[in-house]
Amino acid sequence: MTDILPFLRSLISVSGLSGYEAPVADLIKETWRPLVDEISISRVGSLHGLKRGTGASPRSSLMIATHMDAIGMRVSKVVDGFLHITNVGGIDVRVLPGAEVTVHASGSDEELPAVVAMRPARFLPESAGDKVLTIEHLLVDTGLLPRAVERKVRVGDLVSFANEPFELAGDVLSGHTLDNRASVAALTICLQELQNKPHVWNVWATATVQEETSFLGAYSSAFELRPQMAIVVDGCFAKGPGASGWQTFQMGKGVGLGLGPNMHPFLHNRLRELAERLEIPWFLDVTPGHSGTDAFAVQITAEGIPAALVEFPIRYMHTPVESISLKDIQRTGRLLAEFVTSLEADFADTIVWE
Ligand SMILES: [Zn+2]
Repeated sequence: MTDILPFLRSLISVSGLSGYEAPVADLIKETWRPLVDEISISRVGSLHGLKRGTGASPRSSLMIATHMDAIGMRVSKVVDGFLHITNVGGIDVRVLPGAEVTVHASGSDEELPAVVAMRPARFLPESAGDKVLTIEHLLVDTGLLPRAVERKVRVGDLVSFANEPFELAGDVLSGHTLDNRASVAALTICLQELQNKPHVWNVWATATVQEETSFLGAYSSAFELRPQMAIVVDGCFAKGPGASGWQTFQMGKGVGLGLGPNMHPFLHNRLRELAERLEIPWFLDVTPGHSGTDAFAVQITAEGIPAALVEFPIRYMHTPVESISLKDIQRTGRLLAEFVTSLEADFADTIVWE
């Protein structure tokens, strides 16, 4: 199996905030191009890679969707050379102070290095006390003098995380945007494995836009591609200090399979049986309603598309130090590839509602 770490490192070092995914889409496109038969960008910017199967036409197709957009920030106000910010997607504001960021300055078309900071505690209003500050109290400092900031930065400019990916002990990688570029890496492993494995179904490798903000990419790609079924890959909550409930899962212990009204039980069971047969460790993620992932958007598109959710645990979700186990990503990629090769030509007709 190829080492996915270099690609994953480059994936999270390229920007692509929700609604502005072109830079990361370019990188994924070039990586997928030799692995698929056709590759194109949808009307709203999602990436569609088609790997053709060998079955007779009309040939069924499976969409495997991974969202490529990132959470981040946007300039809301410029005051005395400092930038005020608001969020793009759901961001954990508690860990923003001290973050290294890039300001995508549209006035000068520059990428400015900056840090997120706040006023010293003694200069904050008493009401703020020792409480966690809201995003309105945070500032972004580029180091530039006020006049230069006024010239270069405009209200509405994007601000993205800039900290480098960091390898911790064991096989843990820490960095921003592992939700959900780690899924893109898993799908890439799947495509690599499929190079030497015949499969009957067509596979649409899909990198969607705007999952963090509107699910636009998943809705529109599912509608355009109209697959017979879909698998969505995304992160779930890892166990960690203070995170030990039934909806948290141990990192490095296997692939997560979602089960609930958002997923088709028939597909779920097929994935579960396959994992067991191949001795790929897996865990069950019981999801009571809307999974909060692209799986929901795909499921309710067009006539309805049977969907499954495959997951890997992320510690410190939606922070600049999201952490994952690389083993989980390798196993996810392998399970996806094995699922594809296991599909019989008439599998879609055998899906039943119990
Ligand atoms: Zn995600």
